[in-house]
Amino acid sequence: MTLGHGPKEACGVFGVFGHDDAAKLTYFGLYALQHRGQESAGIVTSAGTSIYEHKGMGLVHDVFNEPILNGLRGRVAVGHVRYSTTGSSVAKNAQPFVASHGGKTLAIGHNGNLTNARRLRRDLEGKGSIFQTTMDSEIIVHLLARNLKGGMEEALVKAASQIQGAYSCVLMTQDQLIAFRDPHGFRPLCLGMLNGAYIVASETCALDLVDARYLRDVAPGEILMIGEEGLKSIKPFPKCQSTFCIFEYIYFARPDSNIFGHNVYAIRKKLGMKLAQEYPLKADFAMPFPDSGNYAAIGFCHESGIPLEMGVIRNHYVGRTFIEPAQSMRDFGVKIKLNPVREILHDKRVVIVEDSIIRGTTSKMRIKTLREAGAKEVHMVVSCPPHRYPCFYGIDFSTKGELIACQHSVEEVQNFIGLDSLCYLSLPGMVEATGIQQDGFCLACFNGKYPIQPEADIAKLCLEY
Ligand code: SF4
Repeated sequence: MTLGHGPKEACGVFGVFGHDDAAKLTYFGLYALQHRGQESAGIVTSAGTSIYEHKGMGLVHDVFNEPILNGLRGRVAVGHVRYSTTGSSVAKNAQPFVASHGGKTLAIGHNGNLTNARRLRRDLEGKGSIFQTTMDSEIIVHLLARNLKGGMEEALVKAASQIQGAYSCVLMTQDQLIAFRDPHGFRPLCLGMLNGAYIVASETCALDLVDARYLRDVAPGEILMIGEEGLKSIKPFPKCQSTFCIFEYIYFARPDSNIFGHNVYAIRKKLGMKLAQEYPLKADFAMPFPDSGNYAAIGFCHESGIPLEMGVIRNHYVGRTFIEPAQSMRDFGVKIKLNPVREILHDKRVVIVEDSIIRGTTSKMRIKTLREAGAKEVHMVVSCPPHRYPCFYGIDFSTKGELIACQHSVEEVQNFIGLDSLCYLSLPGMVEATGIQQDGFCLACFNGKYPIQPEADIAKLCLEY
């Protein structure tokens, strides 16, 4: 994943029920999920009657320290790392979102985007609801609060039956941890166990870090309610076709995670193998821009017999911001992160294996540095088809203008980036590499077939008016 350049994920969520170190476990869980959101982080815990919370802008290790974690008491916790897909990146929009109603305190962490957020918010405001944030996640809390009279289970079913779109959520009350996932199952969510405590996480890599045993995925449309009396599962909605986000496999999820029942590393490698089958190329070596494309590159080289080299070296210690040199240094921003190795690149025919091209501007700058380092030919193979349509389910390319392939032909993209050739993996090839049936996926950003039609005016800042 190329932090800061590629598309950003919506969020990562983590929850614990029944562990003395609930806050610390959540901290480590969020650490493992940091790739899913780097703008803000938060943890809320419950010690029965008292709720503790801490949230802030920045990375998990910037937001928390030992004294803060020690102050987050209790055996129930929910945590969240955020990249904003609805609402600005400001402190008030950090999650988990906490609200009190009728003596009950709720804290929610949400991954995904609601597609009917604008209408629901207008309706709720028309009935007197006052919103504290511009996040769609707050709508879920308002809907719950309006239906709490009949108990939490009834409130959850009523709220979930009104919201549409993508949501994998962790919700905490004083004495319960609740996990629920939209009926289409766009975003992943899994359940694990550690010494009798239940753990819920966006990805299995977070379970691994805290030594929790993976039990199963939270099923699409399932609501899991976990309390002192144990775990209760309800599936109140008519079963519908799952539409997992295929881009989780291509780009977002960590390669050491298993999501939607399959290992991400293995699928990325197969995507690379498929590319090699679809596009037999002649080259001296193939390389990824680390870390995007690493695993597809392994598969591509394995299948094609083209040697794998690392033609650029990544500086792992570059922070989110850095001081620009006083005098203008050419391509400083690119080179500080990825520096080409001239001795490897000089006079060579190179194939770059990329996981995706969204805006194309970063690729353009990187290819320029390879040419300057002496590469003779630069070809690019991409482990998914061109992104021609926006995503409304929690990924940050929500307008066509952000997608180069929406406006331009493959040849135009190739010329813009400065390549000798450009090949995208076919849609059937991409799906086949996953081993999952095509109708089990959302492919909307590739083929424009949206599993849920979004409201006409939905966009990142649509709730800021
Ligand atoms: S539109 Fe693309 S990125 Fe968005 S959920 Fe569907 S497959 Fe994933």
